Amino acid sequence: MTAAERTDEPRLALVGFRSDENSSFLRGAAEAPPLIRSALASDSSNAWCENGRELTGSTFHDAGDFAAPPGATMLATIEAAIGALLDRGLRPISLGGDHAITYPILRAFAKRHPRLSILHVDAHPDLYDEFQGNRLSHACPFARIMEEGLVQRLVQVGLRTINGHQRAQIARFGVEAIEMKQFRDGIDVAFDGPVYVSIDLDGLDPAFAPGVSHREPGGLSTRQTLDVIAGVRAPVVGADVVEFNPRMDPTGMTAMVCAKLVKELAGKMLETT
Ligand code: MN
Ligand code: MN
Repeated sequence: MTAAERTDEPRLALVGFRSDENSSFLRGAAEAPPLIRSALASDSSNAWCENGRELTGSTFHDAGDFAAPPGATMLATIEAAIGALLDRGLRPISLGGDHAITYPILRAFAKRHPRLSILHVDAHPDLYDEFQGNRLSHACPFARIMEEGLVQRLVQVGLRTINGHQRAQIARFGVEAIEMKQFRDGIDVAFDGPVYVSIDLDGLDPAFAPGVSHREPGGLSTRQTLDVIAGVRAPVVGADVVEFNPRMDPTGMTAMVCAKLVKELAGKMLETT
C-alpha cells in the first residue's frame, strides 16, 4: 500500500512559490502564498467542498513556501520541489507567484505524466515567444511548455486579449482556445487522461477578483470558474493558482477567492485519489 492509498496519509500537497521576478507590469504576486494560506484557514468559512468532501488536517502535506533565487536557479528550484512531491505520490497544488512558475512545474510533471492535458483559465494566452526580451516572462510559459512537448493538449478558457502574434502561436501549437466571447455556462471539455489545472486569477472578471496585476474586464465570474473545475471528468493530478497580487487587493476579497479555488480544486482531486 502506498502512502497515497492510506486515508490517514496526505494525498495532496500544498506548496507556495514566492516569485514575481518575471512579471512584466507590477510586482507583488510573490507576497500571495501566506495570504492564501490564511484565507484557507480562516474561520469565516469551513473545510467542506461543494462535492461533499472535507479537507482535514491530513489532506495536505504542506511543503511550505519557496523564495527561489532569480533566474535559472528559480526554475531548477521549482522543478525539483514539484518533482519531489510527485515522487512521494502526492498531487500538488501550487500557490503563485506569477504565471512563470507553471513552466518549471510542468517540466516536473511531464517526466511522470507523459499523456497530460492542461486546463488553463486566463485572460491571456501567455504564449508569447518572448516578452520585453524575457523568454521566461509570465507572458510566455505556455509557449515554452508547448515547444518542449510537455503536454499533449492545452485547453485555454477565458481569453480576451489575443493579438496577432498570439493568434499565430495558438495555431502553431494547436492550442484549443475557448475565448471569453465564446464562453457559455455548462461548457464541456472532454479529457481522456490526467489533467493539470492552471488558474490565473485574471481569468476571472476584476469585479470578482480585483487583486491582480493585469485587470481585464469582461471575464469569468467566480461561480463560472468553479463550475469549470467541477465539470472536469478526468483525474486532476495537479493545479496552480497564480497571479494573485495582494497589493491590488485592498478588501482582501481576492485572497478569499483564491482560497475557495484551492479548496474546490482539492475536492476535485480527492474524487480520483
Ligand atoms: Mn493573465
Ligand atoms: Mn497568465
